[in-house]
Amino acid sequence: MGLRPNLLTRRTAGVASTTLALLLSTAAVGVVPAASAFSAAPAESCAEPADVHSDARVKAGAHAKHEPNELTVAQVREREADLSSALRERANYRAGAGAGTLATVTIPVVVHVIQENSTRAGGNIPDSLITSQITVLNQAYSGATGGAATAFSFQLQKINRVTNPAWYPIVSGSSAERSMKTSLREGGKNTLNMYLGELSDGLLGWATFPKKALDKMDGVVVLSESLPGGTATNYNQGDTGTHEIGHWLNLYHTFQGGCSGSGDGVSDTPAEASPAYQCPTGRDTCTATGLDPITNFMDYTYDSCMHQFTTGQASRMLTAWNAYRAA
Ligand SMILES: [Zn+2]
Repeated sequence: MGLRPNLLTRRTAGVASTTLALLLSTAAVGVVPAASAFSAAPAESCAEPADVHSDARVKAGAHAKHEPNELTVAQVREREADLSSALRERANYRAGAGAGTLATVTIPVVVHVIQENSTRAGGNIPDSLITSQITVLNQAYSGATGGAATAFSFQLQKINRVTNPAWYPIVSGSSAERSMKTSLREGGKNTLNMYLGELSDGLLGWATFPKKALDKMDGVVVLSESLPGGTATNYNQGDTGTHEIGHWLNLYHTFQGGCSGSGDGVSDTPAEASPAYQCPTGRDTCTATGLDPITNFMDYTYDSCMHQFTTGQASRMLTAWNAYRAA
């Protein structure tokens, strides 16, 4: 479950071809183990539907039993080949249609608030948290918090409140998640559907990667109390949303691939052996040039620690937008 203050979780990342999850670390309150403890965590295997790959962010200290998001080398290779193929197809389509590629993008956002009942503990968060989340996204993606400016801005289109105990908490990879999304998803490939609620397994959130064909599972799931002003200590400034949407726009974690290979496919994010938690200033886990990118939105540090995307990530997101999500 998402945000239980006594449940230690860690942000994990796994990503797979389609879904990304962000696990929420609940713990926080004083019980967070040192970051090094996490790298020693045993690898966990979990069966997941072949068509649903997730990338999860977990809370520091929490040990999620299900880490849907670790992308294997083969999965990354598959995704990169798909991107190349999508780019070729779109280039041909645009040439035929006389259309250009987009340089700036306003993303319509439909927010689904999943509630168990009408209480705050039952998921009934106020609209003010949602409007604050949109503000945080616009600051993060415009570079106003210190990173590179990206092409993206976000416009709240609708808040849809749904009371359904069968969908609460939202369980990653469950048939209930599929039922929820199939019933609720709105808009085209360019519409961001954000599902808010209590989450399973200490997760902070998860998201889908872009695909050529629109899929009802497309969207991001975020712990409602991770929104700005929420109760998820250390993860309540809205950067879970920022991180998950990064996946929705085709970004990998900064620690993808560890110290070797092409890593996260972005040249200006220094290689990182494993996720960073809390805010370990000066951490340097690979011999390659550069300290670990612990302030990057695509790592697993506290919200107070992360504040930037890089120019390379901005470019990767826009390329993927034009390949997959542009009309
Ligand atoms: Zn992630």
